[in-house]
Amino acid sequence: MKTSQYFLPVLKDAPSEASTASHRWMLQSGMIQSTVSGIYTWLPLGLRVLKKIKTIIRQEQNAIGAIEMLAPTLQPATLWQESGRYDDYGLEMLRVNDRHKRLLVYGPTAEEVFVDVVRRCIQSYKAFPLNLYNIQWKFRDEVRPRFGVMRGREFLMKDGYSFDLTPQASKETYCKVFRSYMRAFYRMGLSVIPLRANTGPIGGDFSHEFHVVAKTGESALYYDSVLENRTPPRFEISDFEEVYAMVDEKHLPEQCRVPAEQLKIARGIEVGHIFHFGDKYSSSMNAQVSSKNGEVVNLQMGSYGIGVSRLVGAIIEAFHDEAGPQWPLSISPFSLGIIHIQENLESKAEDLYCKVKDLGIETLWEDRPLSPGEKFALMDMLGLPFQAILSEKNQKNSQIEVKVRKTGERYCFSLDKFLEWLH
Ligand code: ATP
Ligand code: MG
Ligand code: MG
Ligand code: MG
Repeated sequence: MKTSQYFLPVLKDAPSEASTASHRWMLQSGMIQSTVSGIYTWLPLGLRVLKKIKTIIRQEQNAIGAIEMLAPTLQPATLWQESGRYDDYGLEMLRVNDRHKRLLVYGPTAEEVFVDVVRRCIQSYKAFPLNLYNIQWKFRDEVRPRFGVMRGREFLMKDGYSFDLTPQASKETYCKVFRSYMRAFYRMGLSVIPLRANTGPIGGDFSHEFHVVAKTGESALYYDSVLENRTPPRFEISDFEEVYAMVDEKHLPEQCRVPAEQLKIARGIEVGHIFHFGDKYSSSMNAQVSSKNGEVVNLQMGSYGIGVSRLVGAIIEAFHDEAGPQWPLSISPFSLGIIHIQENLESKAEDLYCKVKDLGIETLWEDRPLSPGEKFALMDMLGLPFQAILSEKNQKNSQIEVKVRKTGERYCFSLDKFLEWLH
């Protein structure tokens, strides 16, 4: 992509409403625009990151046998009355009447809709286990929408729902989802801490939250520092079960056996939350099936959420400096940025741009006539992991300078070596 042909409405200055790095950089680097409080338009640059996060989540969900579908944003209030949650949800739930005065809600989550879908198709126990998910916009009328997409009112969630015949099978599904979440976050470059959590309005008996540790996090976390920087394959729930890790409401100092110097007390951003709740919804909403031996059983369920749009902000909170975000390669809007310092290098830059593009590498070339300082600042603010810089000095030696955004390291390559390195 050439910036001259792109839609990249960056802002000159830090917007005054931004109090966190992610909020600032998402607005300033032209990733999002605020449409109305807590509701954002995703501009092309931001959308690229959002899509990459979705792809990673999708791949890891599909890898454990979960199946993607798409539920609507608007749901009939009657389903919520049936499950008994309609009154509990309070002012966070947006309720609207259609022209026939039928009450609809903009889904803050979708347990009821998925139970309804499944109960209407159940013919045999042979259909189970079943693990369905969707990636869909949710609405919660948060009291204090803030920090940009981190606490939006409209936000993108991956939400999944599993249906099993026995509590044991359902817990096994929960464990698989746990592992797939850890893998997905890892692939986004994040070191996420899973902690035991309360179940809240979703209900149930077993729950974990996944947090990105960051000063700007809204939750308090208490965990054994041995949990930090886990890498695959240590993503099984059994690798974590014996280790102390609690969100605020679950932390009981008198029960915590972690030595003081090993206990981490940190702030966290909740990027995922999973629940095992047995037959809470299947019993109230009559989702039953005859088992192999003819006994009628309630389906055993779990539900699994990831804050897809919140993750974009959380990743910036985890990776940025004073010049802008530092995107991990796997979710960066582009992999490489190209700038040429002197205008007479335009055709050289174009040539490089075409060659790199032919390799299938997502590249953004700053081809507008800006000053070198403006180009450097823009590239740093966009936060692409690698920058290729063409200057007269390096061209004399037939070299291309490559800057690694995260570390500031610089390397020089010949064109051939550079293309080989990219490969
Ligand atoms: P929070 O504690 O931050 O209010 P929650 O516990 O109410 O979140 P869940 O019901 O567990 O949220 O929803 C699943 C995931 O959706 C959360 O882990 C979070 O990543 C994301 N999420 C929830 N509310 C918002 C929001 N207002 N804006 C962006 N993402 C959100
Ligand atoms: Mg909430
Ligand atoms: Mg929460
Ligand atoms: Mg939660």
